[in-house]
Amino acid sequence: MPKKPASRRSLVSVVTGGAGFLGSHLVDLLLERGHKVIAIDNLVTGSIGNIAHLGGVRGFKFIQQDVTEFIFLDMPVDFVWHFASPASPIDYLDLPIQTLKVGSLGTHKALGLAKHKAARFLLASTSEIYGDPLVHPQTEDYWGNVNPIGLRGCYDEAKRFAEALTMAYHREHGVETRIVRIFNTYGPRMRLNDGRVVPAFLSQALQNKRLTVFGDGSQTRSFCYCLDLIEGIYRLMMSNTPYPVNIGNPQEFTMLEFAREVIRATGARSKIVFKPLPEDDPKQRRPDITRARTLLGWSPAIPLSDGLEKTIAYFRKKIFSSSKSGRS
Ligand code: UDP
Repeated sequence: MPKKPASRRSLVSVVTGGAGFLGSHLVDLLLERGHKVIAIDNLVTGSIGNIAHLGGVRGFKFIQQDVTEFIFLDMPVDFVWHFASPASPIDYLDLPIQTLKVGSLGTHKALGLAKHKAARFLLASTSEIYGDPLVHPQTEDYWGNVNPIGLRGCYDEAKRFAEALTMAYHREHGVETRIVRIFNTYGPRMRLNDGRVVPAFLSQALQNKRLTVFGDGSQTRSFCYCLDLIEGIYRLMMSNTPYPVNIGNPQEFTMLEFAREVIRATGARSKIVFKPLPEDDPKQRRPDITRARTLLGWSPAIPLSDGLEKTIAYFRKKIFSSSKSGRS
């Protein structure tokens, strides 16, 4: 059957990793903006709970599938958003081969789908492609400082490969592609135990436990609220730039400063305890977002205090309901 022109039907988006933290927020935004959405997720790190509110919503469909396998969809597709991947250090240390496979084979399948459907493709890449950066803040033209055989190499190199494959499909097959380099992001739907610093500190603080600062806490990160980030990514997909764009919040903190901020924001009585720094932990990270500002007219709008407040409310509920039901 010939494809009905997109102007006479709703736009169709496929979101791989659509039950994940960021994937599910993207699904919500796309549905709000009138897209039909097909979320694909193998639920290895994603969760049905993140999309449970969409049960029965018209225009939304969930397929439980590993995207390293052939993706068959019997319908027109306008946009493929490739978000599937473990993304927290403890997840990809626990799942190094799945991480490499989804970044390589999964990206291949997702690009193949976009090519077959003549859809536009966006790769969710990462600030990890800069490794332990020697340029600060990180601009998109910096090539990075990655240890390919270190414990983080499975994620960093998978994403670097994914960027290379995306550019190859763009140059060789003329697929319209976009690459977003996502910096540290936080918000509701992060897993309490995903090991990243925001859920770790928040769940510790909300239970008045000690906050585990790794190393001496002088390493820096900058945190973007999830809805700010998703808006930037949506604008990137709708723009016309095939080259990578950093999306993140340039407000930079040391991890020690951040721990103190979490204690303040939660009103916790927690102390801080220092733990060993994980291997290859980047010493500094802050996005240069000049490109996003110029090309997309985007910059983050939600201050850390507001984002933390929403995230604290989410985690408080999670911790309270799991302790009531006896789960840890
Ligand atoms: N970190 C920490 N305590 C924790 C978890 C993480 O001090 O309980 C540090 C970690 O060493 C890193 C920063 O917080 O320097 C951000 O870690 P995260 O795992 O959130 O992501 P990354 O930016 O390293 O990918």
